[in-house]
Amino acid sequence: MMGYTSGTHITIERKYLTIIDLSYTIMKELSIHTLIDLSHPLIDHMPVYPGDEPTRLEKTNDFALDGFNNFRFTSSLHTGTHIDGPMHMTESDSFIDELPLEQFIGTGCLLYAVGMKVILCTPEFTSAIVPESIVLIYTGFGKQFGNEEYYRDHPVISIELAQSFAQQRIKMVCLDMPSPDRHPYDIHTYLLKNSVLIAENLAGMEKLLTVKKFDIIAFPLRIHADSSPARIVARILE
Ligand SMILES: [Zn+2]
Repeated sequence: MMGYTSGTHITIERKYLTIIDLSYTIMKELSIHTLIDLSHPLIDHMPVYPGDEPTRLEKTNDFALDGFNNFRFTSSLHTGTHIDGPMHMTESDSFIDELPLEQFIGTGCLLYAVGMKVILCTPEFTSAIVPESIVLIYTGFGKQFGNEEYYRDHPVISIELAQSFAQQRIKMVCLDMPSPDRHPYDIHTYLLKNSVLIAENLAGMEKLLTVKKFDIIAFPLRIHADSSPARIVARILE
């Protein structure tokens, strides 16, 4: 008689379960480790904010001639993908290297703002904002990076939306545009005064449009300055 309780049968079943367990764990690991780069590469003569010094990345030594390669990088800290620290536009004396590391990593929260010239505090946005998260605003304007319009015609954030970020203790707001505002930079000042960091010039944010759940890892250099270039990465969870 075929017995379901026979030793062999149970052993096979356990092995089978172990294989299922293992492949589930591997799949989970793989998806946890899917990373999306949201940063622009830093290159010689890349676009800079109007009025900023040109960015230079020059090779100063050559392996064939000198036995080593070396480069010199000269740039404003606000070129390419970077994080504005509190000192950038407030009287704060907190340098970016003094902020807690926890402020640069957190649950990601994407707001879809394509077509909005002024990004308002809509009920959809209010309900989508997760407290203490890192908010990304997708405007689609990132594809203009390098064009004149990028710095001239970018959308701006309304004060009401900035206030809701502060109320929800958002760690950082990430933008696919050069600034959340224009002169006299009231939104910059308000956000930075309320401990909301501002990450500007993100790239490739459209890759997150179909992603359900992700974290943001956005570490600045450990540089004793107001702000810093950053390698901003989304870690896909679902
Ligand atoms: Zn900046």
